[in-house]
Amino acid sequence: MQIIKTVAEMQMISAQIKKSGQTIGFVPTMGALHNGHLSLFDKARQKADVAIASIFVNPTQFGPNEDYEKYPRTLEADSEAAIKHNIDYIFIPSVQEMYPEGYSTYVNIKNITEVVEGIKRPGHFNGVGVVLTKLFNIVAPDYAFFGQKDYQQTLVVKQLVKDLNIPVEIFVEPTVRLENGLAMSSRNKYLSEEERERATIIYKSLIEAKAAIQEGIKNRLELVKIVTNKLNKEPKIKIDYVCVALADSLKEVDQFKSNDNIVILIAAYMGNTRLIDNMLLTII
Ligand code: AMP
Repeated sequence: MQIIKTVAEMQMISAQIKKSGQTIGFVPTMGALHNGHLSLFDKARQKADVAIASIFVNPTQFGPNEDYEKYPRTLEADSEAAIKHNIDYIFIPSVQEMYPEGYSTYVNIKNITEVVEGIKRPGHFNGVGVVLTKLFNIVAPDYAFFGQKDYQQTLVVKQLVKDLNIPVEIFVEPTVRLENGLAMSSRNKYLSEEERERATIIYKSLIEAKAAIQEGIKNRLELVKIVTNKLNKEPKIKIDYVCVALADSLKEVDQFKSNDNIVILIAAYMGNTRLIDNMLLTII
């Protein structure tokens, strides 16, 4: 495995790979790798001839009061994990390399960024859009792999590559969880063991909604209430939002119909740590 630190070198390597007729599978990450990331590495490894991952804590997707400074950075362990999972190259640019002095270009993704997570984290998805556009241009992947864990982000990415004609196929892979149900996240590092256990209420509330849907509930607010009530059983959890919406548009219709594909999105604080999770379900 090779570590690449500059845009120029990464672009040269990608060009050589393409010239030789090989395909590139790409997994963008912010590091502090866990099994969620590694499942994406394995998918890239299986699908493409060459597997490339990036590790870049992207400042443009963090709000002013968010955790950019204290975001976990564990490069050594990350490199070892990437080697174990047979990644060929990891691209680890500096902030200066990605946003040199005079950097001036931003993307403005509409609609899908203007709901749910986009309201709570203004500018976040446009920051994601900028860094992914750059990374796609630098790495030139045939395939890119994203986790369902960040569900709205997967919709944003699909919109971005469609609108800007970026020739990459997007794959969305299932959320990897701890045995107790908690979705794996780099931010789980902020939690104590007790908090990690208490935070399982998030997954449990999604399971409760799933059961309600199986019993025939189609009303959005009823589903929101079921999830909210369950979350509120855990006194240390503070709900940021519970959103139940059509899966492809995130439209919050009042009454769902049979066979509608919906998503339940949750953001909640455990102490100061903001956690998100979601579940895709079909109305019966
Ligand atoms: P991040 O490092 O948080 O930017 O995440 C990099 C990629 O890993 C994104 O596509 C995430 O959706 C994905 N990811 C993060 N956590 C998980 C998880 N628990 N299961 C599957 N994918 C994940």
